[in-house]
Amino acid sequence: MSHELKSVWPTGKYYVAECSCGWQSPLIPSHYGAQVAFKNHRERAQNDPQLSDPGKDMLGKFHRDPQRTEQPAAEDTYPRTGTQRLRVLNAIRQAEPDGLTDRELQQNLRIRRARTRRQELVEGGWVEDSGRTRKLEDTKNKAIVWVLSERARKAS
Ligand SMILES: [Zn+2]
Repeated sequence: MSHELKSVWPTGKYYVAECSCGWQSPLIPSHYGAQVAFKNHRERAQNDPQLSDPGKDMLGKFHRDPQRTEQPAAEDTYPRTGTQRLRVLNAIRQAEPDGLTDRELQQNLRIRRARTRRQELVEGGWVEDSGRTRKLEDTKNKAIVWVLSERARKAS
């Protein structure tokens, strides 16, 4: 089964990404976040073919009907005190304007799933791709540098 981004459509202040396989993202507060959710879905589906069965990773299929009660993504709320997500967000805030790579987050915070927490923050519209990359010391790879979104800069 192929996974191609069919559309990202706005609904109120949220966006929903839809894949050619039938998967739909939850409601996400930024267009960029919806695209990231789609990329994560495609990555998961390609790594685990069982997931490409649309019934398996679809979280509450959303319809375009604007009258329907909207259930925003859990990541849409500002991270609570004491959560790993807040620690990740604060670390990125402290690193402004340089930003942090996933590797740096993991090393600085010693959170094993720092990348997952960072992805949730991207999907929630709190963190975004800076458009810059940084070379990792031990490999030739370059890593994306993550920075706060405008939304996160305004929130405290
Ligand atoms: Zn798909």
